[in-house]
Amino acid sequence: MFFFASFAALRETFMVPVNPVNPVKKGLDMFRIGFGYDVHRLVEGRPLILGGVEIPYAFGLEGHSDADVLTHAVIDAIIGALGAGDIGRHFPDTDPAYKGVSSLSMLGTVMDMVKGDGYRLNNLDTTITAQAPKLAPHLSNMRGRLSEILEASIGQINIKATTSEGLGFCGKREGMEAFAVVSLVKAKTQGVNK
Ligand SMILES: [Zn+2]
Repeated sequence: MFFFASFAALRETFMVPVNPVNPVKKGLDMFRIGFGYDVHRLVEGRPLILGGVEIPYAFGLEGHSDADVLTHAVIDAIIGALGAGDIGRHFPDTDPAYKGVSSLSMLGTVMDMVKGDGYRLNNLDTTITAQAPKLAPHLSNMRGRLSEILEASIGQINIKATTSEGLGFCGKREGMEAFAVVSLVKAKTQGVNK
């Protein structure tokens, strides 16, 4: 028979915390890697904003903020690399402060977290899945916008766009999704790479 001094002691013994505090001492690792994913529904009457760039299209993405699915995936990846949870934890969609806000400003906030932990962007690779419109003409603008916020060179940012061959919700033009992988490197190891 075991006796525990408190419920907290019992919980600590038998339960894994739902949201563990980052067990890695901040700034200790040379590299950090993060993965991000996001999806938004396509609707009428909304601007289509991807990577901070407004793209002419009859539909836009639905969401609490500007619903920039690419930037959200990047934010999620960076938060993941920092071991700091997910985008919803830092920018809850119930918070009126983020209603209609540009996702680039949220990305700027996340970059402050990166710098605060002693890192800088090493590189970012992303994929957007969208059946339409054609995104290729806009990719270099998106890279430019993201590289400014991420304080990185264009060469450190990669954006790919693909269709899903007509399959699934992206193929039916019901929504778009984005994936991002980011690597962060200790800021003082390589200096500013601009
Ligand atoms: Zn989102």
